[in-house]
Amino acid sequence: MERYYDLVIVGAGPAGCTASLYASRAGLSTLLLDNGAPGGKLIKTFEIANYPGTGVLSGVDLAMKMFEQATAFGATYEYGDVAEITKDKVVKLSDGQEIQAKAVLIATGTKERLLNIPGEKENIGRGVSFCAVCDGAFFKDKDVVVIGGGNSALEESMYLTKFANVTIVIRRDVFRAEKQIQEQVEANDKIKIITKHIPKEIVSENGKVSGIVLENVDTHETQTIPCSGIFPYVGQDPMTQSLKDLGVCDERGYVIVDKNMETCIPGIYAAGDVIQKDLRQVVTATNDGAIAAQHIFHSISNL
Ligand code: NAP
Repeated sequence: MERYYDLVIVGAGPAGCTASLYASRAGLSTLLLDNGAPGGKLIKTFEIANYPGTGVLSGVDLAMKMFEQATAFGATYEYGDVAEITKDKVVKLSDGQEIQAKAVLIATGTKERLLNIPGEKENIGRGVSFCAVCDGAFFKDKDVVVIGGGNSALEESMYLTKFANVTIVIRRDVFRAEKQIQEQVEANDKIKIITKHIPKEIVSENGKVSGIVLENVDTHETQTIPCSGIFPYVGQDPMTQSLKDLGVCDERGYVIVDKNMETCIPGIYAAGDVIQKDLRQVVTATNDGAIAAQHIFHSISNL
């Protein structure tokens, strides 16, 4: 083994950054790894209005502030694509590197769930997008369809109205999102809402999205809505592929932890959206990261 750390954190979103801040301030040698830009889902989020003390600020700004603080006390940040984490706390990267840790914290978060309908995968980047903040500006003065009625769908729909006319499609006749964002959506002239319909197929012309086929859940009648962009926000799945042999996940793939954020394998912890829990928010992710780091510090100190 070439490299050793007290703590290796996999994932530099709010949970990973907070754990990095707490662990490095406590004096642990800490490596923070991510296989994308630091910030996790924050960097794909237009605005954060429910993180206490910051007012309303952009997701990217909050991500950068968290990341700067995460590495301000001696933690090392590196690009790292983690292929496997072993019971012995060896973190194996896809480039062949192996890093030994006294503790590993999994803070890999979740990824957007696909609609899994015809025309979706082949049109990603050709009108199908999972990131309004990244791609919204490509749809200036065009019509886009957002699928889903959760917080992500409604918040990103509000952002998309800066550029486009938005149709939100939900499968029930009620939203899942919080009331405040529902009220904003319902009051926005650039947003139309279609209830009780499910997406069946994405259609394209000349290599670009041209519409979406919707089916009425009661009558099963179908209609095609012309549009240039489709933004599916139908929920998330945990990113736990690298843990598949550890036996620490529930049937949906979320990591099961105790009150200290430790899994059933001593020294392997998880925090943030990737764990089995009820409330997935930035503030609960930072809370998890702090608890995990503090417990890891005490465990390592007692060794
Ligand atoms: P979510 O809350 O699970 O909502 C998913 C939405 O997609 C629901 O409206 C669901 O419909 C719909 N849906 C699921 N599968 C579908 C399908 N196959 N076809 C059509 N519609 C489908 O997901 P999310 O919005 O990504 O949020 C994930 C978590 O992050 C949540 O806990 C959320 O509260 C949190 N979050 C919080 C904030 C914030 O606090 N500002 C922002 C973003 C996300 P049904 O309602 O009918 O099931």
